[in-house]
Amino acid sequence: MEKITDRPIDKAQVDLALLRSGVDQANIPSLLMCLVQMTGDMKWLDAPYTPRRGVGLDDNDSAGLPEDVQQEIRDAAFAAVTAWLDGQPLAMPRPSNQQLAAMLTAAMAEPVPEEYGEVIAATMKLDEPAAPPAVKRPLSAIIIGAGVSGICAAIRLKEIGIPCQIFEKNDEIGGTWWENRYPGCGVDTPNLTYTFSFRSTDWSHYFPLREEISRYLIDTAREYGLYDLVRFRTTVKKARWQSDTNQWQVTVINADGVEEVHYADVVFSAVGILNMPLVPQIDGLQSFKGRVIHTADWPEDVDLTGKRVAVVGNGASAMQVVPAIADQVASLTIFARSKQWAAPFPQFRKEVPRGVRYLIQVLPLYRAWYEQRLSWTFNDRVHGTLFRDPDWKEPARSVNAINDGHRQHFTRYVIEQLGDRQDLLEHVLPDFPPFAKRMLLDNGWYKTLRRDNVRLVPHRLARIEGSTLTSANGETIEADVLILATGFQAANVLGSYEVVGRDGRVLKEFWGQDNAAAYLGTVVPGFPNFFILLGPNVGAGHGGSMIRSIENQTHYALQILQTMLDHDAAAVEVREQTYNDYVAKVDAAHEKLVWTHPGTENWYRNAQGRVIAITPWRNDAFWRMTRKAQPGDFQFIPATAPTEQEPATPPAAASA
Ligand SMILES: Cc1cc2nc3c(=O)[nH]c(=O)nc-3n(C[C@H](O)[C@H](O)[C@H](O)COP(=O)(O)OP(=O)(O)OC[C@H]3O[C@@H](n4cnc5c(N)ncnc54)[C@H](O)[C@@H]3O)c2cc1C
Repeated sequence: MEKITDRPIDKAQVDLALLRSGVDQANIPSLLMCLVQMTGDMKWLDAPYTPRRGVGLDDNDSAGLPEDVQQEIRDAAFAAVTAWLDGQPLAMPRPSNQQLAAMLTAAMAEPVPEEYGEVIAATMKLDEPAAPPAVKRPLSAIIIGAGVSGICAAIRLKEIGIPCQIFEKNDEIGGTWWENRYPGCGVDTPNLTYTFSFRSTDWSHYFPLREEISRYLIDTAREYGLYDLVRFRTTVKKARWQSDTNQWQVTVINADGVEEVHYADVVFSAVGILNMPLVPQIDGLQSFKGRVIHTADWPEDVDLTGKRVAVVGNGASAMQVVPAIADQVASLTIFARSKQWAAPFPQFRKEVPRGVRYLIQVLPLYRAWYEQRLSWTFNDRVHGTLFRDPDWKEPARSVNAINDGHRQHFTRYVIEQLGDRQDLLEHVLPDFPPFAKRMLLDNGWYKTLRRDNVRLVPHRLARIEGSTLTSANGETIEADVLILATGFQAANVLGSYEVVGRDGRVLKEFWGQDNAAAYLGTVVPGFPNFFILLGPNVGAGHGGSMIRSIENQTHYALQILQTMLDHDAAAVEVREQTYNDYVAKVDAAHEKLVWTHPGTENWYRNAQGRVIAITPWRNDAFWRMTRKAQPGDFQFIPATAPTEQEPATPPAAASA
């Protein structure tokens, strides 16, 4: 990924007309930040240029400014970019962290916490990167899974010279984005945030669809030489720690169905949390006459034209697939046992204009500021509004006054979208606070519900007999195809294989089946040199790109390995106390947040109601927590372990 000072395209090669069209359509708040840094003139932060606050998830491209002021900004930005292309350096290549937070505050027209400056500087790559871990003795690694997490881990390990092998059950790279092929499948986090920090790309859409993301991941893997490292169609069955050799023994079933055993010093578990489809228990499902399709297993040969289609579920996948197939099918019946909040989403299916794509390529500074705005808008902006106010008098509606304001905003939106079908309101308007379940993005859902060939059954699909589907309230319909948009076994963390750690500790038993936890989502006591990417309590329920979290975790895992090497240890594991304290902190933090609001259900919680899938932290907090591994948090297993039961404890840990 370019630095903001890089000029990826030489001035002589730049298409100035295209660049001008990009500046003319660019996001004004981001242009203003570029102007500040390019000219050093702070006037761009003040009136009359100060952006007005945008609404919801809108990019606020005009900044709410009068046309003439916008024009002045665009002209000045074009002049500054061309001067920079001519060789003029940035006047402010490294604003202070405080200035960066103040700049994002101005660009968003709302307060951004001052401590955010540090993260802005890091994600904009304003400073020289810290030296990568020095691997002073040979280490080997096995990575399980070749989705975003596996790709990220493999690239980082390769960079620091740790050879690795990747086992992937599928026949291609990409995980989520290889497997989910249903019509309409795409991200609901914006393009520049759903991009590896080390490899930018020229996204065609503000919210790319799966084909483009899958291609990006495949190209990334190709560019970094990962195909030589992956064993496709190879499923890991078991990973067992060998205390005599301080290595992991990994048992796989290879592409020929033959069992193989492999060994490595380190294991990265990169199997995802949304990887094992959840098939609901429906009476008579086996008897269904037509085709049953889970959204995560969409067949290539299915033709829905003119078919009577039934969909079970109304979560994120349903919200994408239903509008995408509605005009193709004869009829579409949706069985929705619960309700969902869905936010207006102005950039839905919008292409990034050619000129703006060009500007993003030519001027890394613009890309960086635009990304900062997107990160704030779609990630942490809302976090502070999700705390349960213990004195709040309307807990059935909302969790605090701001959350109630959000409720009113989204309710108005739903009413407006339903148009002449206000009869649907009682079936779609949630009776729980906004954000208590993942906030979905409206992919045309409400408008689709208004169609003549679409019917919402606000009940569970209870029974199937042949082609007759009966809902929990006794309504029946006939269907040719049944689509299960029922999500994944999110609570079954690392459910696709068995992990046995030190002293025969079985991970599932240690966790008590569905009660997964990990220190910083990454490490578990008793499982040396075992790193879980996208592990428990890592995803961001308040929004945000998983790629950022996965990169943070990968960085942290390498820091732990560095600490292990610094201690001349053979292996490293988190101390039980550190783990317990962290889990208690996570649980206590969640207790204050909307996801544990009494009476609401979401897939973030396990059967006991403990939130296991998502983090309670702001993204900048997780970034900070994962910068450095504190030796006192770990115990180190020496190369010649005195006894396998008692790993050496460093003095810092003993006194902590
Ligand atoms: C429909 C959908 C939309 C999403 N949209 C967004 C979004 O907008 N923004 C966002 O941030 N996140 C989104 N996510 C979450 C998404 O899963 C993550 O962003 C990211 O892709 C996770 O990458 P991963 O590598 O950790 O897991 P996965 O992509 O799930 O990859 C795991 C890999 O491990 C392999 N594997 C599993 N078990 C084994 C085994 N035992 N042996 C060998 N291989 C194994 C799998 O085959 C798979 O390839 C979405 C998820 C889904 C399902």
